[in-house]
Amino acid sequence: MTCDIRRFVTLGVLLVLLIVTASAAAQPPDRWTRPFEGHRVIGNLYAVGTYDLAVFLITSDEGHILINTGLEDSTALIRDNMNSLGFELDDVEILLTMQAHWDHTAALAEIKEITGAEMWATEGDARVLEDGGFSDPHFGGEESFPPVSVEKIIAEGDVIELGDTRLTVMETPGHTEGSSSYLMKVTEGGRDYDVAIANMATINPGKQLVVDPTYLGVADDFAETFSKQRALDVAVWVSAHGSQYGLHDKYERGQAYHPDTFVDPEGFLATVERLESLYLEQVEAERR
Ligand SMILES: [Zn+2]
Repeated sequence: MTCDIRRFVTLGVLLVLLIVTASAAAQPPDRWTRPFEGHRVIGNLYAVGTYDLAVFLITSDEGHILINTGLEDSTALIRDNMNSLGFELDDVEILLTMQAHWDHTAALAEIKEITGAEMWATEGDARVLEDGGFSDPHFGGEESFPPVSVEKIIAEGDVIELGDTRLTVMETPGHTEGSSSYLMKVTEGGRDYDVAIANMATINPGKQLVVDPTYLGVADDFAETFSKQRALDVAVWVSAHGSQYGLHDKYERGQAYHPDTFVDPEGFLATVERLESLYLEQVEAERR
């Protein structure tokens, strides 16, 4: 009898623990949803995302390009940030992503619906965008964001043109199969700046590179990305998370615009090299 009660209590405690753990896992980090003011990065590149989930706006006189969203309810925040900078969500013509993970894609379908913009994506990410994350080899098996149809496949070296904006596609696979970065040149005050909107090659926990790889070729994909990014000429860089590119060290709320605010070639190289050593350590550990 006592034993039964004990078992009953133990089961009850386990159940409560399970529920607490599950709801904690479902709760996104506060920094992902915390509003942050829209601001100009350099030239016609603006940041209009949350405190940590980066959303980039590239403006032109023939409409705008929007890269990424935040979570599913981020449309209003993106719209407010755009409005505060004098731009309209309705003028977005092209939607892009850096990586087809729900924290960067979940409002795409809604924004597409509102604006009538076209979704352009790499082949690897297009599949995942269209099935709402179902075919994601790491987080898949269920829908993790509202599916969004893709109008155009983009690939390495493609130049996306809108008005006088030219954005070059650089495939940087590994984090997802279709992870991509975008390169542009900006001229400010008579000086040319090489700008990289770079998807950084972080490895999500539980991902396997060489032993039972999460997808075939994932290790080679990461290696390709590191070698491309190391060779890149970068003055200004930003990435999919504010914390990755030091947003809050470089920029404070209300700070006046200066084209040099996000100039940080050493920081870019150091970040690529740090991530590459984590990658090499994991490859080594898996082979042990
Ligand atoms: Zn991700």
